[in-house]
Amino acid sequence: MSHEHPVAMSPCINCGRPFMYDPERVVSVLIDAETGWYPEPGRRHHAVREPACHFCVRAANVERRKRGLPLGYEGDTYTDLMRRLARGEW
Ligand SMILES: [Zn+2]
Repeated sequence: MSHEHPVAMSPCINCGRPFMYDPERVVSVLIDAETGWYPEPGRRHHAVREPACHFCVRAANVERRKRGLPLGYEGDTYTDLMRRLARGEW
């Protein structure tokens, strides 16, 4: 076992599927801790960041690309972890 980065595991905020990620680089979503939804403007101070899994990030990016919106980061955050998983480093 070698750990180049810290690894965490928790359910995805979007689909609820538990997944492993690098907490320093995972894509996270702002959620209003009281409502469980994306925070209204002016309620950002109630918001917490919850990690989203690579399936949901990729699915969201497909939609965002169609609408011409900026993409969520899907770079090496997960491919690096997948490579390490494939090598049996966990
Ligand atoms: Zn997900």
